[in-house]
Amino acid sequence: MRPSGHGHLFVISGPSGAGKSTVIRSLLSREPELVLSVSDTTRPARPGERRGIEYNFVSREDFFGKRDRGEYLESAEVYGHLYGTPRIPVEHHLANGRDVLLEIDIQGAAMVKRAMPEAVLVFIEPPSLDELSARLRGRGTEDPDSLSRRMRASYDELKAKGTYDHIVVNDDLGRATGDLVRILEPRNPSE
Ligand code: ADP
Ligand code: 5GP
Repeated sequence: MRPSGHGHLFVISGPSGAGKSTVIRSLLSREPELVLSVSDTTRPARPGERRGIEYNFVSREDFFGKRDRGEYLESAEVYGHLYGTPRIPVEHHLANGRDVLLEIDIQGAAMVKRAMPEAVLVFIEPPSLDELSARLRGRGTEDPDSLSRRMRASYDELKAKGTYDHIVVNDDLGRATGDLVRILEPRNPSE
């Protein structure tokens, strides 16, 4: 049983292609009571991505309006597109005692940690840069420009891992999921 009261906030980051979405999907199948926050983005949808499931796809005008009205818990430009975490649903779920996951970039994670120091930051690390490149290519979703932009950014992203509370290497998916399950175990309420 999880303790009642306020839920915990978990932030998952890591380079594009490290396997964040895959590990989170696997985690949610084992821990279905977790809530995964759905971000707004100005990036075009990839084939198969569903509005309101992977992302809320919004125009730049809508994004700036919402950001100016303070509707985002955090927001950032990542690989040339804008992304933001809608504040109200996250606050609502936490207040109802639900644990919430954010899958956001390293800038967003730093903003969340400043605003909510109790948030637990988890970095998903690829086994190697070669494997990262192979996964990103294998996913087949990025054009050559986007691919090289994401690979270039991975160097700086990997440098940030030391600021995270936990690092999970995503070599074997089952093991990485098990690591995350342990990290998410309810902490002692008296801590
Ligand atoms: P991210 O969300 O971090 O950008 P994805 O979850 O989309 O990454 O994973 C990138 C690619 O790597 C996908 O094609 C996915 O199937 C593959 N992948 C993810 N985890 C593993 C793993 N542990 N072993 C091998 N391939 C993986
Ligand atoms: P993708 O375009 O591959 O789905 O995501 C690109 C990057 O944007 C990933 O690092 C992902 O974690 C990050 N991202 C997704 N949603 C948000 C968000 O709401 N805020 C921030 N700061 N980053 C996000």
